[in-house]
Amino acid sequence: MLGAIIGDIVGSRFEFNNHRSKDFDLFTDASFVTDDSIMTIAIAKALMEAVKASQDPEHVDQAKLADLAVRHMQEIGRKYPNCGYGGRFERWVFSSDPRPYNSFGNGAAMRVSPAGFFARDEKEAVQLAKTVTAVTHNHEEGIKGAVATAVAIYMARRGAKKEAIRQRIEDDYYILDFTIDGIRPLYVFNETCQETVPQALVCFFESESFEDAIRTAISLGGDSDTVAAITGAVAEAYYCIPPALGRRALAYLDADLRAVCDEWMRFTSG
Ligand SMILES: [Mg+2]
Repeated sequence: MLGAIIGDIVGSRFEFNNHRSKDFDLFTDASFVTDDSIMTIAIAKALMEAVKASQDPEHVDQAKLADLAVRHMQEIGRKYPNCGYGGRFERWVFSSDPRPYNSFGNGAAMRVSPAGFFARDEKEAVQLAKTVTAVTHNHEEGIKGAVATAVAIYMARRGAKKEAIRQRIEDDYYILDFTIDGIRPLYVFNETCQETVPQALVCFFESESFEDAIRTAISLGGDSDTVAAITGAVAEAYYCIPPALGRRALAYLDADLRAVCDEWMRFTSG
């Protein structure tokens, strides 16, 4: 989850001002926390509560998880009304009758990483990702973007090689017949899963380290904070995060968001 937060904060100042090179300062005074981090934290909170509330901790109650995902995305989301929501998601956050709206926006993938980090097997990664996504992004491409991201994280966490993860993604989710250098000249802002998730995954596959993954994601351009959040989540699972980078990012969170992160780190390490 922290990898997504790092990607989001690093990418925040480039979302509408793309920087198509790997040479830049990761953290500056102009960097900030956006919806990608805030919704990731909301999903982490929902998942922790769902696990604790489930009768059988081995089987997370999916209906409960869906309810908690709605509750915490709304409760936490309403405290940060100006963090960068898309129009339809913003209406959903403030709705008294929140319903899924058939979205395939990349918000599905940017927030899903806790599912991949918690899951105890790949099937559970798929199920948790579907559940927390379908409350808003119930279009099949929205679900696919979230599930592919969660599966990549799960496999990376369990020590799968990049080739194996790539093969799984190509077999089950996306054709990855491009390189970042190849698409960079024509890649523009696009907030769909279909035009964000495969690109973010290839940034990870081409990377040499956690930091290089984040820099590669920024260098692609487009919806920079979200591309980097998705890439960063998978890179965290594969490489682990250099502690100094983690500390820099956590310092951007306020006390409430930080408390959930701390709770999540205890939850997933125990
Ligand atoms: Mg954002």
